[in-house]
Amino acid sequence: MAVVGILTGRAVGAAPIPEICPVHKIQMEHKVMRLVYGMPSKAEFEEMRIAKTRFPYGKDYWLGGCVVKPTKTAEGRVCAKCVEARTAWLKSVKAVPPRKADP
Ligand SMILES: [Zn+2]
Repeated sequence: MAVVGILTGRAVGAAPIPEICPVHKIQMEHKVMRLVYGMPSKAEFEEMRIAKTRFPYGKDYWLGGCVVKPTKTAEGRVCAKCVEARTAWLKSVKAVPPRKADP
């Protein structure tokens, strides 16, 4: 039995989250995820494009959009294989977020 209906905190119009990763066909871990607001960076847009087909459930946070809302967390799922694939991809493109001024 699927645990759905507790996803009301998610972005409007978002599709329900499957229990099985559509890419890796494995059971995903249920998680309460942070909602991150703000305009995604160029690297994040690129990641979203790639992630759709290669690691759709590799992030442990949601992008909440540009408008900051009071909601800070939302139910979600994370796929271990997606996390692996995402980590490998991030390494391959060296998309490490720039550090704010080293002392
Ligand atoms: Zn996956």
